[in-house]
Amino acid sequence: MPYAIISDIHANLEALDVVLADIAARRPDAVVCLGDFVGYGPDPVPCVERVRPLLRAAVVGNHDVAALETQDAVAAKFNPFAYEAVVWTRRQLTEPVRGYLEGLPRRATPDGFLCVHGSVRDPIEEYIFDIATARASFDAAPFVLCLVGHTHVPAVFTQAGEAVIGEPLLPDRPLQLQSDRRYIINAGSVGQPRDGDPRAAYLWLDTDEHIATLIRLEYSVARTQEKMLAAGLPAMLAERLAYGR
Ligand code: ZN
Repeated sequence: MPYAIISDIHANLEALDVVLADIAARRPDAVVCLGDFVGYGPDPVPCVERVRPLLRAAVVGNHDVAALETQDAVAAKFNPFAYEAVVWTRRQLTEPVRGYLEGLPRRATPDGFLCVHGSVRDPIEEYIFDIATARASFDAAPFVLCLVGHTHVPAVFTQAGEAVIGEPLLPDRPLQLQSDRRYIINAGSVGQPRDGDPRAAYLWLDTDEHIATLIRLEYSVARTQEKMLAAGLPAMLAERLAYGR
């Protein structure tokens, strides 16, 4: 079945709308979200409302959890700019959106593949950037394919026998999944890419053909930046969108 896998929307409605239009044109069987619906961006409520009816499955991200917290214990986990955005986001959430985020699971297996936001051993907080962390997740559960977000950097970690390798996942270069290997694939970020490419990212996964393809799409970064500055969000968070960092 063809799946569209989206992650790390981060309240960026301009990026989300471009991604959802592309997904609608390709007609997948289902859409899955890997968390961080909110945080950083100017449109947390419209983003959740827009994407929620389309999702077959979704998991919660660290920014979603932070926006739900009433204690400021989360402050220590975020840099000052991100924390300012968390506080701003909390004030925007409506009761239905808060209830939706509160009900999201930490793990989902929509069709035999495992979905988490961060990593298998720590679904909310841990970043899989390197081989050692990827290996710990391969050891943590007997999955064949796991999809993650959180780093905002599209990547694929492959386990073949005892070896684990990590590579960037490049757009329009389809990855053929081998039946004797295990994979952790990072779907990148819809609303705040950090791999140096400012275009919105999502993953196309065909579970019949066993092919994963990263898709990148231009959107109006300037429009999102204007909204962020008008909302009083930190300028640094708006500036980074233009560089994809
Ligand atoms: Zn994120």
